[in-house]
Amino acid sequence: MAWRVAEWLYALAPLAFAFILWRTWQKLTLCERQKREVERSSQVLEEEHHVLELIARGATLKEVLEALTLAVENIVPGVACSVLLVDRQRECLIQGAAPHLPRGFWKMCEQLPIGDYGCCPSAALHNETMISEDMGTDPKWAPIRDQVLSYGLRSCWSVPIRDSDTNQVIATFAMYRPVPAKPTPEHLRVVRAGAQLAGNAIERLRSFQQMREYAARFSLAERAAEFGIWEWDPKTGLFDLSDGTAVMAGLGTEGLRVTGEQLYATVHPDDQEPARVAREAVFQKGGGYEHEFRRVSARDDSIRWYRNRGTVELKDGEPVKVIGAIMDITEHKRMQSNLERAKSAAEEAARAKGDFLANMSHEIRTPMNAVVGMTTLLEDLDLPGEALDYVRTIRTSSDALLGVINDILDFSKIESGKLDLERVPFCLSQSLEEAGELLGPKAAEKGLDLVVDADPTMGDWVYGDPTRLRQILVNLVGNAVKFTGHGEIVVKAREVSTREGAEMLIQVRDTGIGIPVEKQDRLFQSFSQVDSSTTRRFGGTGLGLAISKRLAELMGGRLTVESQPGAGSTFTLALPFEPAPAMEHAPIAETDWSGKRVLVVDDNAANRQILSVYLSNWRFSVETVPTAAAALSRIRAASWDLLILDWHMPEMDGVELALAVKSELGAGAPPMVMLSSGAASLGSAFGGQPNPLAAYLTKPVRRQHLHRVLAHLLSGNRAPVRSGAPSLDAGFASRMPLRILVADDNIVNQKVAQRLLERWGYRPDLAQDGVEVLDAVRHRSYDLVLLDVQMPVMDGIEAAERIRREVPAAHRPYLAALTAGAFKRDRDRCIEAGMDTFLSKPLDIGELRAVLEKCYAQKAAMVAG
Ligand code: ADP
Repeated sequence: MAWRVAEWLYALAPLAFAFILWRTWQKLTLCERQKREVERSSQVLEEEHHVLELIARGATLKEVLEALTLAVENIVPGVACSVLLVDRQRECLIQGAAPHLPRGFWKMCEQLPIGDYGCCPSAALHNETMISEDMGTDPKWAPIRDQVLSYGLRSCWSVPIRDSDTNQVIATFAMYRPVPAKPTPEHLRVVRAGAQLAGNAIERLRSFQQMREYAARFSLAERAAEFGIWEWDPKTGLFDLSDGTAVMAGLGTEGLRVTGEQLYATVHPDDQEPARVAREAVFQKGGGYEHEFRRVSARDDSIRWYRNRGTVELKDGEPVKVIGAIMDITEHKRMQSNLERAKSAAEEAARAKGDFLANMSHEIRTPMNAVVGMTTLLEDLDLPGEALDYVRTIRTSSDALLGVINDILDFSKIESGKLDLERVPFCLSQSLEEAGELLGPKAAEKGLDLVVDADPTMGDWVYGDPTRLRQILVNLVGNAVKFTGHGEIVVKAREVSTREGAEMLIQVRDTGIGIPVEKQDRLFQSFSQVDSSTTRRFGGTGLGLAISKRLAELMGGRLTVESQPGAGSTFTLALPFEPAPAMEHAPIAETDWSGKRVLVVDDNAANRQILSVYLSNWRFSVETVPTAAAALSRIRAASWDLLILDWHMPEMDGVELALAVKSELGAGAPPMVMLSSGAASLGSAFGGQPNPLAAYLTKPVRRQHLHRVLAHLLSGNRAPVRSGAPSLDAGFASRMPLRILVADDNIVNQKVAQRLLERWGYRPDLAQDGVEVLDAVRHRSYDLVLLDVQMPVMDGIEAAERIRREVPAAHRPYLAALTAGAFKRDRDRCIEAGMDTFLSKPLDIGELRAVLEKCYAQKAAMVAG
């Protein structure tokens, strides 16, 4: 048995030995292979390192790929390698690098369509490794076999190079041999490692390329937009400047890192500290900051302006990131200062225009004063008929001319923003009535009824500018009278509430020619009239409505129109309604005439209604009738305390009715009040018979006037009362004696004022300039000085100031400025200089008279006090 075992062992020994030998050899080759592999891996790693270095040094893709293919060729001797790149359109392979491939073959690879042939085109197409052990027999090479073989190539393996994100083929890495061969696994490993490296290199180079392009674009943008960015590192205290910032700071053409001192040294000395303070101010709270600073150019000492905008990011209360941008704003600053210069030049021009207007106003109004004043005086003389006619024509023409001048001045004032509106409490119904009163005679001349209808429940006292409101109303009512042939004009005021608050609506409705809808928007434009033929027929500047609309808007309201040709027009003025406390005791609202019976006779329904409202408010028991016949039958049927009659009525008019009542009732007839639009010629209407009327009033009737007249009549006083404009009454001076001094350098104006005053019975003294005024005031005591503002030697302003200073209050005269200046500031200047009031030229008799009354009232009060 032992033998048998030994025999077996003996027989097996060579086998075992062979096995052991084989194993040892195997291990040895494995070690050798592993060693080689390790060597190659480290070679690959080294190559990778080398490639990265190349990239960092800024080598081109071609250079990097060439180095890579050479390296692989070194690792695997006897092969030639190539890298082909997929083109942008992903249609062709183009040359990457192939340092050792035959030139002719490489030329073929300039533009190799991707497709199912060869190794690289098909590897790119299928995204997988392609191996050709013998290109002489492999059908893949059929299309290009002859050329390829002619270059001495016989076997090839190609590996796709993929994008790491998308896995798409971006290139191929191939290895060629001049003999038919099968790739060893080692060949394949090295090719794949080479492909991997080439892929990395391509991707890195592309992002490097992108970054370089981005940086170049950013630098270009910085230059174009004249800005730059910077970052401050709180740890090192250093600033990183972009190219743009470096250029703007004059520190170079490329981005760099500098200390705070270096950077601040580039800033204008006066702006260094503010710049530091601006940045450090936000260190505590973080967030953004902004400041402007200057730099002086080292080249030509010119100054450039910059705006710096930064932001500070905090962490645990400490700044961790401070970053910002600087912008060159020199051009912006230059434009800004040009703009400011242009603005002040424009303001200067506007001021000059305003002064020109004020001067023009003065120059035009001064001679107009003489024309208007002298014609007023002339009208009062006993002139032969024809002469009176001429004088009246001059008077109306000069009034019209003054109207035009005022319109143009107003318009210019609004245009140049120089129109100041007043805001004072005023009585609305009075303004409406005044406008009606002013135009009443014109309406009457044309046989038109002019009715003013203010809602009595509406608050009467409001805040606003009564003069300007009156101007709008006079224009609207004036137009209504001008463009209405027959019918009536109704001025109606109502209060309405809107979302914005209370509004007053004042409507002026006429029954005139109307305005076509398509022309209505032109109405409110300056110098525009609906058609030129109307201009010829009616005259006018075409400014009235433009001014009215602008005034309404300045008052916070609006002016609109509704109209149809032939059916009349309605202009609506809507203004904010701001009630004001009544300024004077208004007894009319509290009057109680209950028990008194009054009969109103008027053919106009609106008038009947308004009178009925007025009278009912005063507790009268009112009855209204539309005809004289109806009135007579009511008078016969009942007894009346008062009759109110309209003059112009069809069939039997007011005069005939009054005479009939007087002849029927004799002394028992109630007091009769006549309402007439032509009161001036009433005297001759009774044809020699005694006047039976107790009072007559002009239309449109003013509530206050009517109240005064009725109070007068019902208290038993039957002496006829007449309402109307103040006339030149020679007894005035004896009722209100005043010592007056008139100071004006213009002889004509002096004469106008002097004559007007003489008509009232005054004997004014005259002065030609401020020095003469002072002299006169020192030697005589005056109650009133009418003081022209513009005079030679010493003007009115200075004279007023000196009088204020020198004359003790008890002897100081009442000072009234006379000026043709049209602006509020002219008036303000007079008041500042110590004048008591202000009279504008041309002199208005009513205004002058009011001044005399006021002056007398003050004198009386002083004497009483
Ligand atoms: P003007 O000074 O010419 O009257 P306005 O601005 O007041 O200037 O009016 C402009 C034009 O509007 C008038 O010329 C006229 O054609 C038209 N117009 C104004 N009011 C009326 C109205 N009540 N009825 C008809 N047309 C009017």
